[in-house]
Amino acid sequence: MEKIPVVQDYAPLPARDGKFHVRLTEGRFQNLRRFISWPLLASFFGLVWVQFDGQPWLLFSFEQHRIILFGDALSWRDLSLLAGLLIASACMLFFLAVAWGRVWCGFACPQSIWTWLFIRIEDLTEGKASKRARQDREALTAQVLLRRSAKHLLWILLAIATATTFTGYFVPIREIVAEAVNLDLSPAISGWILIMAGLTYLNAGLVREKICLHACPYSRFQGVMFDDHTQTVSYDAGRGEPRANRRKGGENSGDCVDCGLCVQVCPVGIDIRDGLQAACIDCAACIDACDNVMTKLERPTGLIRFASEAQLNGNKSHFLRPRLAGYGAVMILAFTAVLYGFTQTTELLVEIRRDRGSLFRQVNKHTVCNVYLVKVEGYSKEQRFVDVSISGEGKLSFFGPQQIDLAEDNAYWQPYRVCARDLKVAKSKLTFHFNGDVLSVSKNTTFLTGHHEATGS
Ligand code: SF4
Ligand code: SF4
Repeated sequence: MEKIPVVQDYAPLPARDGKFHVRLTEGRFQNLRRFISWPLLASFFGLVWVQFDGQPWLLFSFEQHRIILFGDALSWRDLSLLAGLLIASACMLFFLAVAWGRVWCGFACPQSIWTWLFIRIEDLTEGKASKRARQDREALTAQVLLRRSAKHLLWILLAIATATTFTGYFVPIREIVAEAVNLDLSPAISGWILIMAGLTYLNAGLVREKICLHACPYSRFQGVMFDDHTQTVSYDAGRGEPRANRRKGGENSGDCVDCGLCVQVCPVGIDIRDGLQAACIDCAACIDACDNVMTKLERPTGLIRFASEAQLNGNKSHFLRPRLAGYGAVMILAFTAVLYGFTQTTELLVEIRRDRGSLFRQVNKHTVCNVYLVKVEGYSKEQRFVDVSISGEGKLSFFGPQQIDLAEDNAYWQPYRVCARDLKVAKSKLTFHFNGDVLSVSKNTTFLTGHHEATGS
């Protein structure tokens, strides 16, 4: 006889106090989520430890005002490229939203990935969703208290590991760990890690889907991006209704046996059978749950599936359409522009300031001197030293380092005194040249003589 997979403890979720327990399920979309999320998690926790030539492979160093991206240093001035990368990624999200709804949210968003991790810890320590719901209703026992404490402890440890790793992308992780082990971590870094850990614990452990529902701006955007051809997680009401429990339902009932599993596995606590909802993050957990039910009932899977409104209404659905092509074109353009930008990054950054103390100094009747502060920063491994020279009007001489070691003198302001003889104009163009084997940069500044004051002419 056909076994009906109705769960005994099915109760409409969420409960009256808004709290609900997410039931874990298995299936091809859960495997796909693992296939996507485990490499992302491994990259997040692993890349921060990777070093290249004794330097972190990825680091956004506030202290040094430089970004180390895949072993190459970028100037802080190239930060706009990362902003460009974010904009290009946003275009990709819009493209995905038009094509497949909120699949980013369901499969790759850090909020979802960490929430699933926290749910798995909950499942491991406190038991399955039905058991957790029962424990909530019953009086607290010592064993439940112990299990709950273990859950919170593991959550806290995971939150601290997440926060420390995240901070490690801004301050070298080895420094953080060494200082933490020696109880020598600065108050600023400790405070930052504590705040980040607290937010992770709150977001993934306690607040969860409410962030997706109320705080995430992407969920607001998607409403205007969906159209009749967007493939999104949908319940095939035409096939499933009228829903009926297999034991009670008659011959005319639909394929939905009202087991409630699709609701129990939903991380945002909605019933997909109520139709397309803004809260749905397209995680496809309900597809797997329902497919498992249909398989056991030996019925075709896909009662809940990725489908468009047009398909559900029996019409032809078009994947490639002007709106999608438009977002695709914008996305490709944005990524192309960012990639081009990465080929044009600053390799030698020169800053020149005048000494604010004195604009010029008349040394004798024929000679005037100006003082400059010069900073040269190198962002290429191929260039270690640059020679310094100047050019301009008059007979020029300068006093200051003739050669700059980019490895040693990087980011230090060096004073240069430039003197001109027999210069008869009030101000003239002065050019500093920084020449290396691979990189060369020239930078203009102004040389002031105070000529009319000095000569009285
Ligand atoms: S849609 Fe599928 S999982 Fe949901 S109640 Fe119906 S049969 Fe169960
Ligand atoms: S309705 Fe289905 S796809 Fe949407 S969030 Fe819930 S389980 Fe995920």
